[in-house]
Amino acid sequence: MLGVVVVAALTALAALLIHASLDTRDSFGQVTHSAEVIETMTQALGELRDAESGQRGFIITHNPAFAQSFEDRVTGSLSDISQVALLTADNPVQNMRANELRRLIRERTAVLRGPLDLGQVGAFDRAAAMVASGRGRDLMSTITLRAREFLAEERNLQTQRTDAAGQRLKGVRRLAIAGVTIIALIVILVSGLVIRGIKRPSVLMKEAMADLGKGDRSARITSAMGSREFDDLATGYNAMAELLEAAVGEQVESEHQLQHANGELVRNADSMRERGEAIELLGGMAHRMQAARTDMELAQIVQLFVPRVLPGLPGALFVHNNSRNLLTPMATWGGVAIENDGFAPDQCWALRRGQSHFVAVPGGDIVCAHVGDAATVYHCEPLLASGEVIGVLYLQGMITGDSRFQLTVLAENIASALVNHRLQRDLREQTIRDPLTGLFNRRYMEETLAIEIARAARGGPPLSLVMCDIDHFKRFNDEFGHDAGDFVLHAVANELRARFRDGDVVCRFGGEEFTIIAPGTTAETLLNRVEIVRQTIADLTLEQSGKRLGSTTMSFGLATWNPDMSRDGTTLIQTADAALYQAKREGRNRAIVSPARMLDSSARR
Ligand code: GH3
Ligand code: MG
Ligand code: MG
Repeated sequence: MLGVVVVAALTALAALLIHASLDTRDSFGQVTHSAEVIETMTQALGELRDAESGQRGFIITHNPAFAQSFEDRVTGSLSDISQVALLTADNPVQNMRANELRRLIRERTAVLRGPLDLGQVGAFDRAAAMVASGRGRDLMSTITLRAREFLAEERNLQTQRTDAAGQRLKGVRRLAIAGVTIIALIVILVSGLVIRGIKRPSVLMKEAMADLGKGDRSARITSAMGSREFDDLATGYNAMAELLEAAVGEQVESEHQLQHANGELVRNADSMRERGEAIELLGGMAHRMQAARTDMELAQIVQLFVPRVLPGLPGALFVHNNSRNLLTPMATWGGVAIENDGFAPDQCWALRRGQSHFVAVPGGDIVCAHVGDAATVYHCEPLLASGEVIGVLYLQGMITGDSRFQLTVLAENIASALVNHRLQRDLREQTIRDPLTGLFNRRYMEETLAIEIARAARGGPPLSLVMCDIDHFKRFNDEFGHDAGDFVLHAVANELRARFRDGDVVCRFGGEEFTIIAPGTTAETLLNRVEIVRQTIADLTLEQSGKRLGSTTMSFGLATWNPDMSRDGTTLIQTADAALYQAKREGRNRAIVSPARMLDSSARR
C-alpha cells in the first residue's frame, strides 16, 4: 500500500517534471527562433548595404569585382529576407512586415541595379550622375525604418519568450525541489512505518519464543501484529505453541499416571507383604487362641499378639460376663490402665450400634461413656459371632488404611476364639455337671477325689469327704410328684453349694445323695460347717409355685483320708458312706464322723 503511494508520487512528480521541462524547452526554442529571425533580418539588411557599397565601388573604381559582389549580396539579402518571411510564418504581424521588407528590398535592389547596368555598358558617368541624384534614398530610409520596427518587435518577443522560459525553468526547479522534498519525506515516513511495522511484531515474536524457550508453554502472541503477514505468522506460532503445550501436557499427564500406577503397585506390593505378615501373625494367634484352655491363657495371647498386629495402639479387650450385664476387662496392652470392673453394654456406642465406633479427631464424634477422659482419639470394635455380641476391642488411637484389614481379622479371630472357648467350657461343664442341680457329677467327683488324694498322699494338707442323703425323700415323690422331688433336690443343692467354702467340690453322687470333697480340712473341723448346713436345710421351708412342700432334713457322714485308704477314693467314699448309714440308723437329720477316724483319734487319746 505504502509502496503504491510512493511509486504513484514518484510517477506524478516525474510526469510533472517531464512536462515542465518540455514546456521550458519549447520556450527556449522560441527564444532561439526569435534570435534566428533577428540575425537573419540583420544579415539581410547588412547584405543590402554591402550590395549598395558594391554598386558604388563598381561605379567609382570600374572594377568588375564590385559588380560581382553586388550580385552576390543582392542574392544573399533576398534569400535572407525570404528566410525571415518563412521564419515568421507563425506570427502574422511580423510575417506581413517581413513580406513588406522583402518587397522594399527588391524595389531597392532594382533601383541600385539601374546605375550598375549603365556601368556594365561603360556609361560610368551617367551611372555616377544617377547615383548622385539620390534616387532611392527615401526607399532605403523606409527599409531601415521598417526593419527597425520589425527588429524592435522581434526583440520584444524575444524578451517576453526569454522571461517565460526563465519562469518555466524556475517552476521546474521549484517543482523538482518540492517534489524531491515531499518524496524524501514520504520515503522517510514509509521507511519509519515499515521499520515500526516489522520491529514491533518481531519483538513480540522474540518475546513469545524466549518465554517458550524458558519453559513457559502458555506463552502466546495476543497483541495485533499490524500486518496480515505477521498476523498469519502469529497465528501459526500460536497454533504450534498450542500443539506443543498439548503434547507436553499429555506427556506430563502420562508420566503422572505412570508414576501413580507405579506408586500404587509399590503400595499394593507393600500392603500385600504387610498383609501377608499380618495374616501369618493372625494365623499364629488364632491357632494359639483355639488351643487355649482358660480365660487366663486367652488373655495372655491377646495381650501378646494384639500389640504386634496393631503396633502403637494401646488398648483393652472387654468381654461379657456370664450374666451378660457387664463388659469386664479381660486383657490390656500398651500401658492402658483399667480402674473399674467393667461397664454396662449401653456405655459403648460400638455395642449399642453393633458396628465400629471411633473418634478420629478430638470432638469429632460422641465419646463412649466407658472411655471418659482416657482418650480423645480412640476406636471401639465390637466382637460379634453369629450376630451375638461377645465383647469389644478398645484401642487408644486411630485405625488407618491397611490396619483396618488387620483389625477386622483380629476382631473376628478373637470373637470366634472367645465363642469357641465358651462352647468348649460349656461342653466340659456339661460333662462334669449334673444337669438338674448344676452340681458336679459323680464322674467329676471321682476324678477330683483321685487328684486330691494324690496331693494329700504327697504330704499335702488333710482331705475330708462328706456323703449326705435326703431323709425320706421318697415321700416327696410319692406325695407331691416327681417334679416336687426335683424341686427339693434343686433347693438342697443350692444350699449345699452356697454353704460350703469355695475350694470344696460339691457333687451330686446320684439320686438324692451328695458328696462334698473338702481339701485342706479334717472331718472334725468340717463337722461344724456340716452342722450349720444340716440345720439350714432343716429350717428350709420348701414351696413350689405357691404349693407348700413342707420341710426336709438330711443325714451326713464324714470321713478323712488316711494313707491306709485306697488312692482311687473308694475306701474314703465307703468310710463316709458308712458314717452316713450310721446317721440314718441313729435317727437321721444328723452328721456322723467316720468311726474309724473316731477310733483313730480315741486310740490316740
Ligand atoms: P431314707 O431316709 O432312708 O434315705 O429314705 P428315702 O426315701 O430318702 O430313701 P430311698 O433310697 O428309699 O429313696 C430314694 C428315692 O429317691 C428313690 C427315688 O424314687 C428317689 N429319687 C432318686 N433320684 C431321684 C431324682 O432324681 N428325682 C426324684 N424326684 N426322685 C429321685
Ligand atoms: Mg434318702
Ligand atoms: Mg438314698
